[in-house]
Amino acid sequence: MSAAPCWHCISWGGWAWGGPHSFCRDPRCPKVQASPATGCCSFERAPGVDDEAGPPPYPPPAELNP
Ligand code: SF4
Repeated sequence: MSAAPCWHCISWGGWAWGGPHSFCRDPRCPKVQASPATGCCSFERAPGVDDEAGPPPYPPPAELNP
């Protein structure tokens, strides 16, 4: 488990169905992360995320929420 949230990871795919779950683009992980606030061991920090105050707003990107 990582202490960093999914929304700071390069594989963040946005909120799933209104949250609190989220989508993950990393092929090594399940497509839905149940606890995005704590990330996972595949966490990789996305450039520039330190500029963000908190999690991104809902809704998720349309291409990930058909
Ligand atoms: S589940 Fe892991 S790899 Fe996927 S977005 Fe969260 S921290 Fe990143």
